[in-house]
Amino acid sequence: FEGERIAKVIARAGVCSRRDAERLIGEGRVKMNGKVLTSAATNVTAKDVILVDGQPLPSKEATKLWRYHKPGGLVVSNNDPQGRPTVFEKLREQLPRVVSIGRLDINTEGLLLLTNDGELARFLELPATGWTRKYRVRAFGHVNEASLTKLEKGVEVEGVRYGPIEAKIERVQGDNTWLTIAIKEGKNREVKRICEHLGLQVNRLIRTAFGPFQLGELPRGGIEEVPTRAMKSSIG
Ligand code: URA
Repeated sequence: FEGERIAKVIARAGVCSRRDAERLIGEGRVKMNGKVLTSAATNVTAKDVILVDGQPLPSKEATKLWRYHKPGGLVVSNNDPQGRPTVFEKLREQLPRVVSIGRLDINTEGLLLLTNDGELARFLELPATGWTRKYRVRAFGHVNEASLTKLEKGVEVEGVRYGPIEAKIERVQGDNTWLTIAIKEGKNREVKRICEHLGLQVNRLIRTAFGPFQLGELPRGGIEEVPTRAMKSSIG
């Protein structure tokens, strides 16, 4: 880190929140290069030695990434106002503190990437990253290939611009159609809204890929760490 506010650096090291770091400084509990800091408006660089209550800052943990096969019925959120079970509660015993890279709706299944690196998560969620999200969709209703082809140019649904979208019919199963859909941005409820626009009602949604990562044969509820080498070659 180059010339960053001290409180931000302490917070990022996982010691406490930025606000609490400012309070610790006010209480004279933070030292820089041997001197008690008196102001939170201090910039620090990688060369500065910071002590909080006499302890050095923990070094940043190595970035880790996991593939998780999210089952339906779990909310991707830290606390749900409606009290529904969350992915993070479910995984609390198996994983360190993690955040998800993007979200899936409660009933959506399939690939959810998790990481211990909040900055990486925020970066990979950006539409600008341009990672393709692939889904298998079961939807009530039937559709023809021609209307799917129109999605290739993108589509506007209720004032929101989506696309371009690649959609193919996988098979028709009675009143339902199975489709594969690939989108780039992952806007809120994107697949459902696109399907509704086509007159289809989604009743099962499974994410099979997120950028270079695949759901593959990971069993439902299963979690697997992405080996560091594979992670680095995919993310750079
Ligand atoms: N599109 C949706 O509508 N829901 C999801 O969970 C993911 C993509």
